[in-house]
Amino acid sequence: MNELNYQMDLLKAMNQKLTAKEKMYTMICEASNCAYLYFSFEKNQIVTIGRWREFFDFDIADIKDVNRVFDEMEEEYTVPLRDVIFLEKSGKGISAMECKHKDGKGWYSFRTTVDYDNLGNPQDKLIVVENTTRIKTQHEELIYMAHYDTMTSLYNRNYFVTLLHDYMKKAERERSVISVMVIDIDDFKKVNDGMGMLAGDELLQLFGAFIKELTRENVFACHLNNDVYCIAIYDPSIDCNVEQIHKMIRRRIADEFVLSNKQSVKISVSIGVAEYPEAASTPLELINCAEIVMYRCKSAGKNMMKYFDASILNDFLKNIELDNKLREAAFHNNFELYYQPQFYTGNKKLRGMEALIRWKDEDNNMISPNVFIPIAEKNGCIIPIGDWVIEESIRTFAGWREKYKTSGILSINISAVQYNKTDFVDSLLLVIRKYHVDPGMIEIEITESVLIEDFDNVIDKLKILRSHGVRVSLDDFGTGFSSLSYLKKLPIDTLKIDKSFIDTVLSDSATRIITESIINMVKSLGIESIAEGVEEQAQYDYLHAIGCDMIQGYLLGKPQTAEEIEGLLNG
Ligand code: C2E
Ligand code: MG
Ligand code: MG
Repeated sequence: MNELNYQMDLLKAMNQKLTAKEKMYTMICEASNCAYLYFSFEKNQIVTIGRWREFFDFDIADIKDVNRVFDEMEEEYTVPLRDVIFLEKSGKGISAMECKHKDGKGWYSFRTTVDYDNLGNPQDKLIVVENTTRIKTQHEELIYMAHYDTMTSLYNRNYFVTLLHDYMKKAERERSVISVMVIDIDDFKKVNDGMGMLAGDELLQLFGAFIKELTRENVFACHLNNDVYCIAIYDPSIDCNVEQIHKMIRRRIADEFVLSNKQSVKISVSIGVAEYPEAASTPLELINCAEIVMYRCKSAGKNMMKYFDASILNDFLKNIELDNKLREAAFHNNFELYYQPQFYTGNKKLRGMEALIRWKDEDNNMISPNVFIPIAEKNGCIIPIGDWVIEESIRTFAGWREKYKTSGILSINISAVQYNKTDFVDSLLLVIRKYHVDPGMIEIEITESVLIEDFDNVIDKLKILRSHGVRVSLDDFGTGFSSLSYLKKLPIDTLKIDKSFIDTVLSDSATRIITESIINMVKSLGIESIAEGVEEQAQYDYLHAIGCDMIQGYLLGKPQTAEEIEGLLNG
C-alpha cells in the first residue's frame, strides 16, 4: 500500500512538473505574437498553439483541415505552401515561405522545423506562422523609395543613374546610342513665388505624370531635382527619338496645366540633349553634358532645345577656369577702375564719370566685365567685388574733389545681386559718409534686371536712397523689358539709352521714332537722358537736335585710368 501511495505521489509530482512546463511553453507561445501548428506523425495528431485564432477564424483538428489554410492564401502560393507543409516533401532543417492572404488581411510567413528519428523518418513538425504585414509593407516602401521619386512617381535620380549605367554597358556591347534629354521648366520660381508652393508642387506632379506617359520599353525617365526632369532613350529609332519626344513635349505645353483649384498655368521648357557615346562615357557625365546644354538654352532666351557639342563643353570648362581665377582675384582685389567721362550735350561740359571695372588676370589678359560680371553674379563674388568698386571709386572721387575742386557726378554700376542684399543701402551710405562726399554727387546705375525681383521692395529702396540725396540711373534702357509705362512708377533721376539704339539711330527710322519718344517721355517726367556709346559726330548732332541731355561715348572720351582722368581734371 505504501508502495502504491509512493507511486501515486511520484506520478502526481511528475504530472505537476509536466503541467508547469506545458504552462511555461504556452506562455512563451502566447507572448511570441506567432501561431504554431504542431504535427505528430507518430500519433497522427495535430495541435494549434499560440495566437492561431487571431490569424485564422477556425481551428485545425485534423491534418485535412490544413487545406483550409491554403484556401485562405493567394492562389499562386498554394502549391509551394502545400509542399512545405506536407511532410514527405519537406527537406531536412527549416524551410520558410511568405504568403499573402486572399482577403487582403496582409502577409504571413510560414516557417517549418522537422524532427527525424534515427532512421530518417519524420517524427514531428512545427510550423510557425507570423504576421509579417508591417515588415513587408515597410520593406516595400523602402524598395519604392529606393527607386522612385515620391512627388512624381517617376524614377529617382539614383535609380535612373543605375539604370543608365546598365544601359550604357548594353549600348557598348550592342554598339548602340543613348540620348539623354534634361528638361527644365522655365521660370518655375515665378510659379512657386506667385501661386504658392502647393501650386508649384502640383505643377511638378502634373508635368511629371506627362513625362511618365512618354516612357516605354526603351524610354525611361526620372525627376532629377526640383523642376528638372531627365529622359533617356535607348537605341533611338525613327518613331522614337529626341525629335519625336520633343514634339510631344511642345504639343503638351502649348496647352495649359490645370491645377485642382482650377487655376491654369502655361509653361515653357529648356531642353539640353547629349548622346552616349559621343558626349560622355559615364551616366553622370552624360547627364551633366545635357545639363550644361540646358543652361545654354536658358541664357539664350529659354523655351528651346539644343544639342551638345564639344565647343559647349570647352566654353563651360573655360568658365570654370574663369570662375576659379575670379574667386582668387576677388580675394586679392586684383581689379582696376577705369573712368569714362560723360558730357552735357549742349555745352560739352564735363557732367561726371562712370566707374568701369577692369580685370587683368595673372597672364595679363584683360577680361571684359561683360564676361566676368555674370560669372561673379552666379558664384557670389559680385558682393566683395561690388563692395570694392564702391569703396575704391568713392575714395578716388573724393580725392579728386579735394585736389581739383571738381563738381561732377560719379556713376557706379550696381549689379542686381548686390542691390538686393538687405544691407546695400546702409553700406553705400556708410562709404559716402566715410569719405565726406555729398550724396548728390553719387549716382548708382541699376539695370532692369533689378526690377524683376520684388518690385515694391526695389522701389522702396530707391526711395530711401533718394531721400538721402543719392541719385539713381536706369542703365542699358531698351535691352530689357523696357516698358515706357513703368517709367512713371520708377523714382529715378537719369535714364541711359543703350548703345544698341545709338548704333542704328541714323540708319533705322523705327529706332529713331522710339529714341525720340523715350527722350520726350523722360523729359516730361523730369528725368535726365544720357546716350551711351556715341562714336560718331553725326550721332551726337542728331541726339543734340532731339534734346538728349547728355552724351557718353568714344567720340568724346573712352574709359580711362585714374591717372589719365586726373590729366583731364587738371586741364
Ligand atoms: P555699361 O554700364 O553700360 O557701361 C558702358 C559700357 O560701354 C562700357 O563697357 C564702356 O566701355 C562701353 N562704351 C562706352 N562708350 C562706348 C562707345 O562709344 N563704343 C563702344 N563700343 N563701347 C562704349 P565696359 O567697361 O566693358 O563695361 C561693360 C559692362 O560691364 C557695363 O556696361 C556694366 O554693365 C558692367 N560693369 C562695368 N563695371 C562694372 C562694375 O563695377 N560693377 C558692375 N556690377 N558692373 C560693371
Ligand atoms: Mg553703366
Ligand atoms: Mg549701359
